[in-house]
Amino acid sequence: MHNENQPLIFEVSKPGRIGYSLTDLDVPEVDLSALLPDSLVRKEDAALPEVSELDIMRHYTALSNRNHGVDTGFYPLGSCTMKYNPKINEAVARIPGFANIHPLQDESTVQGAMEVAYDLQEHLCEITGMDEVTLQPAAGAHGEWTALMMIRAFHEANGDTGRTKVLVPDSAHGTNPASATVAGFDTVTVNSDENGLVDIEDLKAKVGEDTAALMLTNPNTLGLFEEHIMEMAKIVHGAGGKLYYDGANLNAVMSKARPGDMGFDAVHLNLHKTFTGPHGGGGPGSGPVGVKEDLAAFLPKPILEKNDGVYTFNYDVPQSIGRVKPFYGNFGIYLRAYTYIRSMGPDGLKAVTENAVLNANYMMRRLEPYFDLPYPQHCKHEFVLSGRRQKKLGVRTLDMAKRLLDFGFHPPTVYFPLNVEEGMMIEPTETESKETLDSFIDAMIQIAKEVEENPEIVQEAPHTTVISRLDETKAARKPVLRYTPQTEEELVKA
Ligand SMILES: *Cc1c(COP(=O)(O)O)cnc(C)c1O
Repeated sequence: MHNENQPLIFEVSKPGRIGYSLTDLDVPEVDLSALLPDSLVRKEDAALPEVSELDIMRHYTALSNRNHGVDTGFYPLGSCTMKYNPKINEAVARIPGFANIHPLQDESTVQGAMEVAYDLQEHLCEITGMDEVTLQPAAGAHGEWTALMMIRAFHEANGDTGRTKVLVPDSAHGTNPASATVAGFDTVTVNSDENGLVDIEDLKAKVGEDTAALMLTNPNTLGLFEEHIMEMAKIVHGAGGKLYYDGANLNAVMSKARPGDMGFDAVHLNLHKTFTGPHGGGGPGSGPVGVKEDLAAFLPKPILEKNDGVYTFNYDVPQSIGRVKPFYGNFGIYLRAYTYIRSMGPDGLKAVTENAVLNANYMMRRLEPYFDLPYPQHCKHEFVLSGRRQKKLGVRTLDMAKRLLDFGFHPPTVYFPLNVEEGMMIEPTETESKETLDSFIDAMIQIAKEVEENPEIVQEAPHTTVISRLDETKAARKPVLRYTPQTEEELVKA
């Protein structure tokens, strides 16, 4: 949003000012107008800002200082695992032998990169308890969809064409029903019981011959482990359905329990969550899918294989659902995840899980006296508070989230999951120190006291940020564009 203290880069612009220097042209100049249709050739220079190197560095450094990311502060966004991005990951991703390869290079010249991808698949098989993994999907939701397409192909290959429904608990991540719908299934919601777990009786009532699969997030979005998972697996398999595990946030189970051992047939992981890839605006995602043997024939092609020490892409996969991503997915993210897994080692990954769960429970118990805790049992990597006590005093969860900005914290996920009134979903992750956890807890306690003593300060927050409270959706619905071409002619000009 435009603000007086920080001019737009276009306002800093001065005609003729430049921030680069190029060497003399040492190849023949090409007349583009001879190569392109006239309608596509620019008639005037593009309206780009003209600034010096210092101007542009200062402009973007100043902007970045206003941003909140995992490298600037605590970021307890539940169901998202905004953990740190280890700098060694970046060093490895920048190794020229990796960074400069081209996806169309001959396989014989990129054996090292293929080895990394293959090895990563092996590690992910081990971590999830699955038989095969594809790295192709570009993000978590894409992985969900990929796995559902494989499950559909599996049923069809068995002549089992009446399986049109996917069961999704009401505590599922929103992408689950969306992916099921995009994959052509009808979703059937399974209710939670009063403990926040899947209601087994409701599951029994809804499962049947038309069930293609059950999609489950475990721990669920309340941060609770589905204790009856083995029974649920039996029920769904008994009806001929498949079990799909949403493993976007594996922090709470990694190295402790494996979806494959819980009876699941397919799982996706978010390398940009659990495995430290930059997240959100920070970079592309990666949502590998692992499957058990009986789904493996349907994996997206090509399949990355190792034969006599040579890595190849196998395109001869007759039952494959086809390619789901150009080339072989987001290689830069594999490098980061691979570096993370290898630098942590099995003991390190186990410690990650233990500390993620310990940190969440520590925070939950210290905050319990000040906020409602609808599901008071021990949590896994995250927990959900309710702001309904504060709402009775006229302060909404949104207000408290905004007030946290004044303390320098990114707010937790709010109003999710939907079955918690005024929910605040907090995931500290394993990478934060006790001091950081305590300072966040102190801020939350202070806010709870302010709600009782001085609610206006919370209702009108934030007070210390560059700009005050924004319209929650306007930026997404009505982005401020400096110049919006209206006609094709203007578009060409722009
Ligand atoms: C983030 C998340 C997803 C979706 O992952 P994207 O990479 O954002 O598509 C799915 N399920 C759960 C539980 C998640 O936390």
